Amino acid sequence: MAGPRKLALRDRGAPAAAKTKAVEPWPIMVVDDDEQVHEMTRVLLRDLEFEGRPFKCVSATSAAEAAAILDLAPEIPVILLDVVMETPDAGLRLVRHIRETLGNRSVRIILRTGQPGDAPEREVVLAYDINDYKSKAELTAQRMFTALVGALRAWRDITTIADLNKTLAELNVSLEQRVADRTRQLEESGQALARSKQRAETALARETEAKTQLRQFLSMVSHEFRTPLAIIDSSAQMLRLRAEQGDPAALPRIDTIRGGVQRLLGLIDTCLADEQLDSGRIVLHEKVFDLAPMIEVTLSHHRVATPTHKYIAQLKGPLMVWGDPGMVALALNNLVGNAAKYSPSGGEVNVIGHHDGGDVAIQVIDQGIGIPDEDLPSIFERFHRATNARGIPGSGIGLHMVRQIVEMHGGSITVESEVARGSRFILRLRAPPGSGKEKTT
Ligand code: ADP
Repeated sequence: MAGPRKLALRDRGAPAAAKTKAVEPWPIMVVDDDEQVHEMTRVLLRDLEFEGRPFKCVSATSAAEAAAILDLAPEIPVILLDVVMETPDAGLRLVRHIRETLGNRSVRIILRTGQPGDAPEREVVLAYDINDYKSKAELTAQRMFTALVGALRAWRDITTIADLNKTLAELNVSLEQRVADRTRQLEESGQALARSKQRAETALARETEAKTQLRQFLSMVSHEFRTPLAIIDSSAQMLRLRAEQGDPAALPRIDTIRGGVQRLLGLIDTCLADEQLDSGRIVLHEKVFDLAPMIEVTLSHHRVATPTHKYIAQLKGPLMVWGDPGMVALALNNLVGNAAKYSPSGGEVNVIGHHDGGDVAIQVIDQGIGIPDEDLPSIFERFHRATNARGIPGSGIGLHMVRQIVEMHGGSITVESEVARGSRFILRLRAPPGSGKEKTT
């Protein structure tokens, strides 16, 4: 035999309750001092169901009892409330208590009155946050169901919005926290950056100060050393003249003294010129001049200073260039000096000069110790000396100075070298337009 038919409505879009899961009934609070009303409501609710969940009656026979229950169970969604109980307006007072004292704005309240005159509908609905108003006589099973479903949907919407608001507020708080954290981090990294900048500025100021001191020291050394060196050199020259007449055996020693003096003077010149070039304090006195005679003069100086080597010039000139003759001579002198210094006694130093496109190219070639591959990339760095040059006196400044001079002239310097076979330094300088005539010396 078929059981009683249940009046049921499933909300559209809401999932059906899983059959295996225990179904939690909707708690509906009935507040009425008439026991029969409770009994009748229980009977009506017994056969109803919404979204697969039945209804459960939570009974209170007075407003005071209802307030106590609600205090403990604020999640009750709907109250069916009588007006006249312990006092004529006990129901209405309960509404105020629920909304204002308990702060419960979500519970839906359906007022059920015995007689419509008990509480005039329009005033009551407006004055007391009541959601529905029914007379007990009109509440049939169908009407009760419709009223409950409406109230439950409204309650669910309100609680969903409240939950969303709560989540939103929490997200806001965490967002604000994250913004505050990030701001603090940015401030900290900004401060760290400012500290690093400050440190870098201090280091730079110290370095500038150290460079200035070094410059002053070099200038002092050059002036203070130059005079005594000149005195030593002229005395040695006089001794040489006397030795030539009376004591020829002393000549080599005197020449050693002069050679040492010349080396020191050359080193002082190189240091000063390099430092001046580096600080940008040098002013070029540029003009068009012929490199060919300059090369010849340089070689003849070296023939006197280092007669142990052969110096050969192959010049297709005139080799007119645009530049500062003093500076170019310094660079040339350095390359030729190195070619002799890093070659064995009796070695050849070849200087080849010719026009090449719009440039004049000068090659300084020797058959000396050469430069190891690993040193080649840094050979023009200041103070860099190749590993195979350790036993030979030098400062590592000359090639750096040569590169600075050449670059200031808009030219270039390159090197090709092989250990124990020799080196070829190629220096290029700009030729003035139309100066490509050839002459061989
Ligand atoms: P240094 O006073 O040491 O000669 P330079 O700056 O003139 O300083 O040269 C740097 C280094 O390059 C030298 O120490 C040497 O190792 C290498 N070098 C320069 N010229 C030659 C060369 N013609 N043959 C071999 N090595 C050279």
